[in-house]
Amino acid sequence: MAQQDLAYWQQQARELEFPTKAFINGAFVDAQSGITFSSINPATGQVLAEVAECDAADVELAVSAARTAYQSGVWSNLPPAERKQKLQSFAQLIEQHQTQLALLESLDMGKPIGDALSYDAPAAARCVAWNGEAIDKVYDEVAPVTSEALALVTREALGVVAAIVPWNFPLVMASWKIGPALATGNSVILKPSEKSPLSALYLAQLAKQAGIPDGVFNVLPGYGHTAGQALALHMDVDCITFTGSTAVGKKLVEFSGQSNLKRAFMECGGKSPNLVCADVADLDKAAATAVAAIFYNQGEVCTAGSRLIVHRSVHKALVDKMLALVDNWQPGNPLDPNTSMGAMVDEVQMQRVLAFIDQAKAQGAKLLCGGEQALPESGGYFIKPTIFDDVDAKLDIVKQEIFGPVLVIQVFDELEQGIALANDTEYGLAAGLWTSDINTAVRTSRALRAGTVFVNNWDGGDMTMPFGGFKQSGNGRDKSLHALEKYTELKSTWIDLT
Ligand code: NAD
Repeated sequence: MAQQDLAYWQQQARELEFPTKAFINGAFVDAQSGITFSSINPATGQVLAEVAECDAADVELAVSAARTAYQSGVWSNLPPAERKQKLQSFAQLIEQHQTQLALLESLDMGKPIGDALSYDAPAAARCVAWNGEAIDKVYDEVAPVTSEALALVTREALGVVAAIVPWNFPLVMASWKIGPALATGNSVILKPSEKSPLSALYLAQLAKQAGIPDGVFNVLPGYGHTAGQALALHMDVDCITFTGSTAVGKKLVEFSGQSNLKRAFMECGGKSPNLVCADVADLDKAAATAVAAIFYNQGEVCTAGSRLIVHRSVHKALVDKMLALVDNWQPGNPLDPNTSMGAMVDEVQMQRVLAFIDQAKAQGAKLLCGGEQALPESGGYFIKPTIFDDVDAKLDIVKQEIFGPVLVIQVFDELEQGIALANDTEYGLAAGLWTSDINTAVRTSRALRAGTVFVNNWDGGDMTMPFGGFKQSGNGRDKSLHALEKYTELKSTWIDLT
């Protein structure tokens, strides 16, 4: 499909129909206020759609619908095998509509259509299917206690789960929340980012078609400080499950404390180190992987390999190989299947990234390539792939998550020093490690303070593996059976047999 040309995808985009209203209690409705906001195509700067702007009034309606559906048992009390069937139908519909979903993803947030087709849409379908498949195979427990009692440890759905997600992988991040939350029997209110609301609304249409009962899955497009905050402060929301920045994640934990101590799971930012040891086996692979790790999805990836920490003995050779590959990552029209790097999500994000670059230049950081806006004539928000070499660990571009196509390189002499540089961050989402020695691989991966460690690769993973962060990258885990734990309460029942 991605082999079609730019003209084909432009035509598909013109013909694409998609919902733009909120989805509450099984129906697409205007926001109570009647207000809409503009969703902008970041590749052109043009308005893509006017979308219902939900706020606290719509949150009230959605929470009430979600609670009523939950209490009715229409979903929460379904036998797991029946929830599985509905989720499988939902996943099949996502698969059948993956072209439309991928196109929406590309138009709404600027990612290359080839990536949206090969990763985002199929990954969302797989996540929903996988969680559905899992749910009639997980058992509860009987505790090993005295024979005078039967001690049951059972799991119950939480009730109403609010999922607040970011714009960098709108479909995938949504599916990581709604897959396990729905599978475990909860009612869900999804609030997509105001920068990328369209694929979530399309999902709502498919959920309805799949027979997910009214009120069980709701989608509220709107801003974080209005709709998002109202969800996080709501006394009748049992859980807030979030992916986004650490700054907002911290606020949501506070909102939980200020309201009903709702369960609060935060998947937050990263500044992930990619550590290349002197005994790296395959420098070509390491170089190709290092550029992909930072330039894939325009660097708008929570696990972007944004800090390359390389042993002095291989530094020059690695950098030369990387620079030879940078041409493959020049930004282009996201609808062109040959494009490997698309547009930044909006002008704010582009300016934020450019400000980091300008500050680093002013502080004397050594720029190897890029460092400026690209394709300004498009009206869109593109940035050239940018690499700074041998950067001082104290600079902001080393410390802060930039969330753009900007790589900083640091050099080390002793492995302990490399590990210390890698761990010198408030984040702990992912880390990479390149070595041909098994002892170094095991010992160093243990020493790296990160939720995921990639040895001789970057971005390896599967639905079967938990995903989440140490330190200020968050708490809880998405994906794998561990994700189910977030959306259930444990109940201990002691039945006296005397
Ligand atoms: P963001 O924190 O600005 O927004 C995320 C979501 O929170 C959006 O839906 C937004 O509307 C909402 N929000 C904002 N302010 C709010 C408030 N006061 N109350 C309630 N909701 C509010 O993040 P972003 O810019 O959309 O996404 C980029 C961030 O997401 C990066 O930091 C990235 O690392 C992180 N991220 C993390 C993971 C992970 O799995 N750890 C995955 C993808 C992205």
